[in-house]
Amino acid sequence: MVWRTARQLDEALTGRVLTRSDFRVPRFATVDLTGRTVTGTVSRGKHLLTRVDGGLTVHTHLKMDGSWRIRPGGGHPPRDHRIRLVLGNDARQALGYRLGIVEVLKTGHEHRAVGHLGPDLLGPDWDAAEALRRLQADPARSVGEALLDQRNLAGIGNIYQSETLFLRGMSPWRPIGAVDDLPEVVDVARRLLEANKDRVGQVTTGDTARGRETWVHGRARRPCRRCGTPIRTASLGTAPQERITYWCPRCQPG
Ligand SMILES: [Zn+2]
Repeated sequence: MVWRTARQLDEALTGRVLTRSDFRVPRFATVDLTGRTVTGTVSRGKHLLTRVDGGLTVHTHLKMDGSWRIRPGGGHPPRDHRIRLVLGNDARQALGYRLGIVEVLKTGHEHRAVGHLGPDLLGPDWDAAEALRRLQADPARSVGEALLDQRNLAGIGNIYQSETLFLRGMSPWRPIGAVDDLPEVVDVARRLLEANKDRVGQVTTGDTARGRETWVHGRARRPCRRCGTPIRTASLGTAPQERITYWCPRCQPG
């Protein structure tokens, strides 16, 4: 997940001087950050902010299929057309593959990139009351859709949305205004994210006896682990991104 990617970038780059800076996107192709020290990388929802001294921030976003890979420093980075950005020092190279967003902005202007996001569930400044306020601002909206909207709270993707609502026994179609236990819903989502933030590969969202498995996500038409009813799946809302929910119609009746 993005939180973990931020930590990997932080470990590879922070406190070291950049000796390689290679922006392979037209708009920033001439930007050169070599000689600057990286001061840190943080995640905000699915956005990554890598800060360098001199008041600049490299803003990247993985979108659907982007990734960052870390490899030993020195030598030339691979000539791979999927690489959009290379940041490296004497010890490490960070290669950004298929990044959906690559831009450089002033650190003081980061809010222009991520200011629309709601409180970050894994952020040090997590603000539950503010997240609840934003979620409840549109009471007619379905809870499944509202949880995925990063303007309400940042960090919940399709997996955590589906798993959270299963664990609360709540249909993704229930209007937010009819969710009496919204603080508990948000708390479950946060605990699932917290429990998985260091995990590599498959997410574990329940105390399933079989180990690394989900309750409903990715299990369309397969029997519910609790009641055996076939799991259903549907698209949510009208957002341009893929927004899919999985639920058990029996365990999550309304
Ligand atoms: Zn069920």
